[in-house]
Amino acid sequence: MTEKEQKCKEGKVWLVGAGPGDAGLLTVKAARLLKKADVIVYDALVSAELLSWLPDRTEKIYVGKHAGNHPVPQEEINQILIREAKAGKCVVRLKGGDPFVFGRGGEELEALAEEGIPFEAVPGVTSSAAVPAYAGIPVTHRDYASSFHVITGHAKKDGTLSIDFPALVKLGGTLVFLMSVSSMEKILKGLMDAGMNPEIPAAVIERGTTARQRQICATVGTLKEKSDLAEIHTPAMIVVGEVCTLAGTLGWAQKRPLGGKQYILTRPRQNMSVLAERLRALGAQVIEMPAIRTEPVRPNKRLKEALERMEMPGEKKDELWLVFTSPVGVTTFFDELREIKYDLRKLLSIERNIKVAAIGSATAGKLGEHGLFADLVPEVYSARELGEKLAAEASPGAHIMIVRAEEGSGELVPPLRKAQLEVEDIPLYRTLYDVHPALQEEVRELLKNGEIDGMTFTSASTVHGFVRAMGGEIPSGIRAVCIGEQTAKAAAEYGMETVVSDRADMDSMVEKILETAEEE
Ligand code: SAH
Repeated sequence: MTEKEQKCKEGKVWLVGAGPGDAGLLTVKAARLLKKADVIVYDALVSAELLSWLPDRTEKIYVGKHAGNHPVPQEEINQILIREAKAGKCVVRLKGGDPFVFGRGGEELEALAEEGIPFEAVPGVTSSAAVPAYAGIPVTHRDYASSFHVITGHAKKDGTLSIDFPALVKLGGTLVFLMSVSSMEKILKGLMDAGMNPEIPAAVIERGTTARQRQICATVGTLKEKSDLAEIHTPAMIVVGEVCTLAGTLGWAQKRPLGGKQYILTRPRQNMSVLAERLRALGAQVIEMPAIRTEPVRPNKRLKEALERMEMPGEKKDELWLVFTSPVGVTTFFDELREIKYDLRKLLSIERNIKVAAIGSATAGKLGEHGLFADLVPEVYSARELGEKLAAEASPGAHIMIVRAEEGSGELVPPLRKAQLEVEDIPLYRTLYDVHPALQEEVRELLKNGEIDGMTFTSASTVHGFVRAMGGEIPSGIRAVCIGEQTAKAAAEYGMETVVSDRADMDSMVEKILETAEEE
């Protein structure tokens, strides 16, 4: 099925649960729908990690809060859904947790039903079970609780709670109170007044499943005081019951090597996810920010001409070096060969000694995937080093063909020219900067609040791209894990605290991130 056919012909709304924060808890169905949506209508509970996961160019409508912190009225949200669906779009209405668990999902579907708009509900992982799980609290356990109950702690306009405390106490199951931070005192008192033993274990968990998860374990009698001391804020939930005692033994989330850490990865979209997955597997929350995206120079007349010249009989029989300075460059090079239907047998028939140079191990690895094994990979990752090493290695009169980004480093060519080699610098792709405003705003806030434990940069252009995407300025002191000295230099210019990975590959980046995490 083509992408177009997958899109719906008439408008439809999918009411989708986004899970409690950890992007890994998005369901497979939700992930598929987000990729094909024409418009995503989302609210406040969605984390930055999840936001970074939404496709760049899909239209997004934020209905969490109006400026000035007023919630967008439900009626207005309903009208947006109706309007977008009637325009024939695939609308994904994304909500935190599960859409029907205190999410007003039912009301939204009723409004759609009334208008005859087709819809589907896609349940999500509800925070009421997942957040305790990330704190090491199983909501039921054969020794402690045979039921669990999810209750809203949201007070009525007059400040009272409509909770039947005696009934809850009598049930004896685990009690999970959502939206309960501001009414914590009333809830705990209500339970004790209804006869609950103040010694019963209780916990409050803030921003569960995310890198900023905090949990306080106490008793029904002491939780309020401890929670105030720790300054627990919403979103948070109260869990009451014997199962809370298990948190000490079963708590696992923060014990992971990168548990409690949050990183921003900036790279071209095409080859980002490997590092993200590695860091997530170690427990980190990862915001993937394609600060830059690449676009091939197309049609690439210069590449075509250079290839044609290479084939000409009687041309110099000297050495010819193909030089690659990034994995994207390699991919784009082969994409372009395909685009112009350049048959690789032509290269084989050229009577020249063709050699291949790569700036670092990741680029060399990419070449290997295409069956080319680099003759030269300098130990130190930098454009200057590549230029110097190549100048020393190439035989006199060699022809150097560099295929790389339009705005490539100025340090590669001079050493080659100095060695009187014939250099052709062919732009293969250009870098574009785009970050959707919702993510931009969220990330700026995270940086400002010191909630980012580190960022990764793989080239100076990703550094510039990121800062530009943030509006030209970032707070100083942000930890930057960089590939290459030039990249670190660029990051340092913006006041970042830099470390350089030992090698130019993902393993080395992961090692450096683990090292810096341990130091803290
Ligand atoms: N539909 C959502 C709940 C919406 S009500 C779900 O199924 O999860 C919002 C409340 O959920 C918050 O006030 C808080 O009590 C709870 N909540 C949601 N995400 C949370 C998180 N990551 N950590 C702690 N509490 C969370």
